[in-house]
Amino acid sequence: MCRHLAYLGPPVFLRELLFDPPHSLLRQSWAPRDMRGGGTINADGFGVGWYPDGGLPVRYRRAQPIWSDPTIAELAAVTSAGAVLAAVRSATVGMAVVDAAAAPFAEGRWLFSHNGVVRGWPDSVVPLAAALPVRDLLTLDVSTDSALLWALVRARLRAGVGPGRAVAETVTSVAEVAPGSRLNLLLTDGHTVVASVAGHALSLRTTPLSVLLASEPHDDEPGWREVPEGQLVEATVTEVRQYALAGS
Ligand code: GLN
Repeated sequence: MCRHLAYLGPPVFLRELLFDPPHSLLRQSWAPRDMRGGGTINADGFGVGWYPDGGLPVRYRRAQPIWSDPTIAELAAVTSAGAVLAAVRSATVGMAVVDAAAAPFAEGRWLFSHNGVVRGWPDSVVPLAAALPVRDLLTLDVSTDSALLWALVRARLRAGVGPGRAVAETVTSVAEVAPGSRLNLLLTDGHTVVASVAGHALSLRTTPLSVLLASEPHDDEPGWREVPEGQLVEATVTEVRQYALAGS
């Protein structure tokens, strides 16, 4: 069920997050350690979004295994950024395997990723989708559960709701209509990162100048901390706050 990460801090080359660590996202694409029964490998696509010189984010996404694309390896060796969101995808059965289904989803400064599945898709979430503007449904990135979750979060952001609340409300409202869903969401604007832990693993590593959130620790160095189930993390490079998700 996908592996994702978000980094904020001093600029790093993308390869330092995607390829170099012993248990990097590349390795997690074919040998993840902690999928909790949700799939085996993450070979249905990948994506990375980064903020060049603090500007609007740029994305590179492909519907193929990250190990099979020589371009991302070249790009990652020469591209550095101080804010990055990346993911490798294991498509839920029946969902399209296309570039547009690979995280990160984006609008303006925002980048978004979902690790998990919406149970009973699509019927279970019809009532939530029905509350979105018709235009949002007509322009959904792709017909997947993750794209709908992004539309639900984005609608709240557009309405002026803060990122922490936008993620928390989306998780709790979807969990209510689609019990048993796995809803690990990740959202950043390049300055703040928000992550929910609802059904899948998430680890956190901070240094005095950086924060890294990842489905799995990418090395065995000290400093990783597993975020417990049912928590919401809201972090900047200087501060990490953790709350209980309502209803968990
Ligand atoms: N269900 C989503 C998809 O198919 C998310 C995938 C994941 O976590 N594997 O795209």
